[in-house]
Amino acid sequence: MQKSTFEYLVYAWILLGILTFIFLILKKVRAPYGRHSNERWGPTMDNKWGWFWMELPALVLMPFLASTGPQAPNTYVWVLIALWVIHYFNRVLVFPFRLRTEGKRIPVFIVLSAFAFNVINGFVNGYYLGHWSTMELSFNEAHLIIGMLVFLAGMIINHQSDTILINLRKVNKGYQIPKGGMFEWVSCPNHLGEIIEWVGFAIVAWNLPALSFAVWTFCNLVPRTLNHHAWYKERFENYPEKRKAVIPGIL
Ligand code: NDP
Repeated sequence: MQKSTFEYLVYAWILLGILTFIFLILKKVRAPYGRHSNERWGPTMDNKWGWFWMELPALVLMPFLASTGPQAPNTYVWVLIALWVIHYFNRVLVFPFRLRTEGKRIPVFIVLSAFAFNVINGFVNGYYLGHWSTMELSFNEAHLIIGMLVFLAGMIINHQSDTILINLRKVNKGYQIPKGGMFEWVSCPNHLGEIIEWVGFAIVAWNLPALSFAVWTFCNLVPRTLNHHAWYKERFENYPEKRKAVIPGIL
């Protein structure tokens, strides 16, 4: 494929992400998994295995394509692969099996949609690095240091927040008001951390496919976060008033 064709396709992909965001916000769609799951979205499957299968293509495709393309990967590409694999190793092989959601189901439609998303996202990021990446690893590059710090901060926030949520179900199996960490500021710090992480990755990578992933993560997670926030307020009368949805003090 020509690089220009590839870039047009990635621009179209970004546009689709933005249109999806507008659609989800305007139509107030509650993606039907987790607390918003319902029977109207067709057949369901086990929640843990749903997470495993829908995230698996990202773990496999990006590293495979980036390391087996016509361009031999340099140290810089290996750094990007490492950041990606650290995240997806957790998301595919650890996170689903830490969840305390025994018996919980997820619509197959959601699993297939997320699977398709991860095929495209893993493909565009890996294919680009395997074919056209020209960057070299140099710690004189400000974007590299800043991006790594942003990525790390996002990963810590995401992981800490997921852990707080998972631990909530150690004793009480139902939904509760989460406390501690960034939950003092926002309802969904796990989503905030995920967005920060992929913004950090895009800053390190400094290429169009990584930007597309950061945009998609924002477009996908902000509507979900707003739904979670509204759900908390509906469900708990004593929900902390000052807590925002996703951006401390702002949104
Ligand atoms: P949620 O916060 O909805 O749920 C995470 C887990 O915590 C679930 O097991 C959930 O149970 C449980 N939980 C959540 N809130 C409570 C509560 N108040 N009381 C008790 N248990 C609770 O996260 P998501 O499912 O939206 O996302 C999970 C991870 O995947 C996050 O780290 C997110 O960033 C990431 N993700 C990334 C996406 C991307 O585009 N890059 C897209 C989607 C998710 P239950 O399932 O029963 O609700």
